[in-house]
Amino acid sequence: MVFVVHFLVLLWFILMIDLPNVVREYLPMGGSVKMVDESLKLAYGENSELIKDKRIAAVQALSGTGACRLFADFQKRFLPDSQIYISVPTWSNHHNIWRDADVQQNTFRYYLPETRGLDYNGFMEDIKNAPNGSFFLLHACAHNPTGVDPTEEQWREISHQFKVKGHFAFFDMAYQGFASGSPEGDAKSIRIFLEDGHPIGCAQSYAKNMGLYGQRVGCLSLVCEDEKQAVAVKSQLQQIARPMYSNPPVHGALVVSTILGDPELKKLWLNEVKGMADRIIGMRTALRENLEKIGSPLPWEHITNQIGMFCYSGLTPEQVDRLTNEFHIYMTRNGRISMAGVTSGNVGYLANAIHEVTK
Ligand code: PLP
Repeated sequence: MVFVVHFLVLLWFILMIDLPNVVREYLPMGGSVKMVDESLKLAYGENSELIKDKRIAAVQALSGTGACRLFADFQKRFLPDSQIYISVPTWSNHHNIWRDADVQQNTFRYYLPETRGLDYNGFMEDIKNAPNGSFFLLHACAHNPTGVDPTEEQWREISHQFKVKGHFAFFDMAYQGFASGSPEGDAKSIRIFLEDGHPIGCAQSYAKNMGLYGQRVGCLSLVCEDEKQAVAVKSQLQQIARPMYSNPPVHGALVVSTILGDPELKKLWLNEVKGMADRIIGMRTALRENLEKIGSPLPWEHITNQIGMFCYSGLTPEQVDRLTNEFHIYMTRNGRISMAGVTSGNVGYLANAIHEVTK
């Protein structure tokens, strides 16, 4: 008996010593195959024909930023004269990424300050006016910084117009699950493009929806014509990655593949994503109600119309400065509020302060 106990204790020690080594090996240049496979199911759908036909070239990337950068370098290498159309406004790092990849940038209209909503007509006109076969960077859901997404119907029209013009859509999906609370629902834009037969690209990030910010785990995927092309494209993506960082980090990929690869864990994660999104939606309602209750005469519907982690409040840089200096409330000077930082405990204080600086 004593021998058995000693043996088990020894085995436990050996496992404890050895276990970390299991996850400290290099990954292949393209990253964890399991993580990439699970990511594709999340973005393209469990039963995607593209996955079955092995038509998607995909590699693990250094989170969403790394996925965008890898694509930008790929674009520059194989289509050196192409441009990228970027929404006004966008996440500011998009400009840096494509600038450092030496890809020429152009813009398209997206946000209408008067309505604090989508500039749908401007967007459609710019799609039509861009030269055939242009590259567009689209936010799959929960647009940063505006929180303004096209409706399903509008996505269908956008996809149709892309088809007419032969444009290429590159989707940056940094917030899958954060908009509707359902990763599946938030992939709607991508699925509409896929239904229409577009060969899209997609950057995925697990920073926000799994809280893996510092683990730098994401995925870059590109839809190809067939399996042969997908193998070639993946090989080229790996060639770009090799002199940049050789191979991606292992730990975050293991967390993602373990969660998404296990039905029970995945169910738990989906519940948590929903809880997180619902809380943010609740805070939007609370902020708007508080502002209306205090008697602010300004329109605040956009707080609840917008979606995802950010609220593009419409506050001016001067009003933001007053919030910072007088109330110790911090946000970017373009008036973007991170709704994740709003709680039932501080929403009243925030509403009061916004009312004070917008009187
Ligand atoms: N894309 C958008 C629109 C973002 O807002 C962010 C993060 O803020 C990212 C990509 C990239 O984030 P990460 O590199 O941490 O995944």
